[in-house]
Amino acid sequence: MKFFYSPMYEVDLGEHILPTIKFRLIKEKLIELGIGTAEDFEEPPPAHDDDVGLVHSSTYLDKLRRGALTPDELAVLDLPFSPELVEAAWIGVEGTIRTARYALETGLGVHIGGGGHHAFPDHGAGYCVLNDSAIAIRALKREGRIVKAMVVDCDVHQGDGTAFVFREDPSVFTCSIHQEDLYPEVKQQSDLDIGLPSGTGDEGYLEELSRHFLPALEIFRPQLLVYVAGADPYQDDQEGELRLSLEGLERRDQMIYREALRKRVPVVVVLAGGYARRTADTVAIHVTTIRTGLHVLGRGGG
Ligand SMILES: [Zn+2]
Repeated sequence: MKFFYSPMYEVDLGEHILPTIKFRLIKEKLIELGIGTAEDFEEPPPAHDDDVGLVHSSTYLDKLRRGALTPDELAVLDLPFSPELVEAAWIGVEGTIRTARYALETGLGVHIGGGGHHAFPDHGAGYCVLNDSAIAIRALKREGRIVKAMVVDCDVHQGDGTAFVFREDPSVFTCSIHQEDLYPEVKQQSDLDIGLPSGTGDEGYLEELSRHFLPALEIFRPQLLVYVAGADPYQDDQEGELRLSLEGLERRDQMIYREALRKRVPVVVVLAGGYARRTADTVAIHVTTIRTGLHVLGRGGG
């Protein structure tokens, strides 16, 4: 099993709630647990601009390259700007593209990165510079590898950028299950939005996910499923209040993978958010998502 990862994801953000150290810690944990060896991690180069341009405007990409975002744009992005941040974003896009190609070949692709779901075509937002999932779907469609794709966004925040990108594209079904009274204040319309109240907890969450996601997958029948596996619905997260336990999050993962397996849909996993008080919890949640995927869909799983 190959994992896609770059040490460049560990961008120095100073005192910021986003723990960019998590990517390296996840890699180390996977090696420690014997799930992967050092040779299993492929480091992607930066994405080609003609791929990034499948979603983002040339004006925005130009501003990023020149470091010319306005103070307002920087405030919406909510990250300290640096050339390293831009470099990591371009690498993150290629990471998701390669992971998606790998998923089509093997049934499961894991990107230890990605999930920039708040990024819009002409601006970044909410810690997301580029929308890697949307770009990867467009790139694979252009390569003729897929016609239809589905995004299942289980980050605690609505996948507003992704919903916006595909709002008039019937070949991509966007589904977001999130906390309703949370960032982004203005929601976009996904093909399926499951907006939950704060404090929902395991049972309510899993019931809603199963009630809505299963029939959507059954009806839409995508050729690729992008699983935006945010760790922030966790009960000890500093940003979200959906209050899922570690076990609840694992059951969420299992539900996604098992249904994908039943319908023979390849899954590409991207990590997205995770702001647990203890970074070790965020790492553990992501590692469980990866292990569960391997168990259900990976080696000997299908
Ligand atoms: Zn989030």
